[in-house]
Amino acid sequence: MNTLLTVQSLTKQYGREKVVKDVSFSLMKNTSTALIGPNGAGKTTTLSMLTGLVNPTFGDIILKENKEDARRMIGFLPQYPKFFSWLSAIEFTEMTAKLSGVDTRVALKEAEKILDFVGLGNVKKKKTGTFSGGMKQRLGLAQAIVHNPSLLLLDEPVSALDPVGRREILNLLKELQERTTILYSTHILNDAEEMTDQLLFLRNGELVEQGSLSDVREKYANPMIKIIFSLEEEAKVFAISSPWNVKQKGSSVCIPIRENEPRMQEILAYASLGDWTVQRIEKASANLEEIFMQVVNKQ
Ligand code: ADP
Repeated sequence: MNTLLTVQSLTKQYGREKVVKDVSFSLMKNTSTALIGPNGAGKTTTLSMLTGLVNPTFGDIILKENKEDARRMIGFLPQYPKFFSWLSAIEFTEMTAKLSGVDTRVALKEAEKILDFVGLGNVKKKKTGTFSGGMKQRLGLAQAIVHNPSLLLLDEPVSALDPVGRREILNLLKELQERTTILYSTHILNDAEEMTDQLLFLRNGELVEQGSLSDVREKYANPMIKIIFSLEEEAKVFAISSPWNVKQKGSSVCIPIRENEPRMQEILAYASLGDWTVQRIEKASANLEEIFMQVVNKQ
């Protein structure tokens, strides 16, 4: 696979504080990467350096096709996009198309095409000042992609949206990821799960983990066996009497299995012996939010 962007030792210092520290990663062409981290981790600063809005204190950003004008090559949706409330959606998008280097003779046509794509075709003549949050986010996406960029940078593209708006934008991004390279930040891991080839975990400005979703899952998922009893009392008795380090919650217990110990058969045998009624036994693993907390809190 071809590399589109390489970032080496990227660092940003404000005063004495380094808010992005020695961050290195690559983006392969036509893949999507989620930049994950809690508030203040350095996601916006990292994206701002990639867009050229903030100068790095140190480090290199190497764009494969850097012969092209970066404005043409990069599309950017800021966390809080601003629009001119007195312009209509089509006027705004045509203007941003021209600013991004689209030929003035085709800018209007391209703007119309992209507004149709993001689902704003029927309101393109409405002033942006009348738009809802979800519509504004679609318009923000339209201005970021109207010039057909090879690298799309999105800062928290769905975090402020309600579940319906979130789903709509995620679906659009999924369509886009087939033809462009996407790097987007989020503090919600479930969004990242939907569309990601690579995860980058930032914590206090440092890249503390990176890899594919399945690699990260395997590393942090903490497989366990969950047994659900009929009564909470039964789960309590099981937790106290079993030879394992069992976590009990309500009428269920979880037994962590590390390197296949204890084995499933052992647990089944033990569970079948006691004076309790087992409703269900299932394999479980930490969900993505729990993985996120582990990565963010690890030493
Ligand atoms: P995130 O996007 O992950 O929430 P940011 O990149 O916005 O994080 O911020 C990372 C850290 O850098 C925060 O502590 C923030 O206060 C600090 N920071 C961001 N911009 C500036 C600035 N212009 N001057 C000083 N500190 C800044």
